[in-house]
Amino acid sequence: METKRFSKNDSGFTCVNCGFEVEPLIRTSRNHCPKCLCSLHVDVLPGDRANECAGVLRPIRVFPDAKKGYVIHYKCDKCGQEGNNKAALKKCAKDVLPDEQYDNEDLLIKLTKLY
Ligand SMILES: [Zn+2]
Ligand SMILES: [Zn+2]
Repeated sequence: METKRFSKNDSGFTCVNCGFEVEPLIRTSRNHCPKCLCSLHVDVLPGDRANECAGVLRPIRVFPDAKKGYVIHYKCDKCGQEGNNKAALKKCAKDVLPDEQYDNEDLLIKLTKLY
């Protein structure tokens, strides 16, 4: 059952916030835009697309994480739910993608200074 629960979403999407064409990561689920770090509130469990909210999850804070690089803390602008997401950094990546498909590190660093 575990494999079904955490089935990965491997399709790309267009960011609703900035219009960037987000390409899928090969080995991990991608659910946020590397440019503006926004995401869509569409999952209940990661990758399941079972949430009907469809609000924009905006990054409100970023925490440096020794293992994961950065953890992005989100808040949904529609229902107010908050959650965390791992950043996709080039230096931690297992996939080979164009540079622009990795998370905007300048923005991540900026968001760590907000608190
Ligand atoms: Zn975006
Ligand atoms: Zn929501």
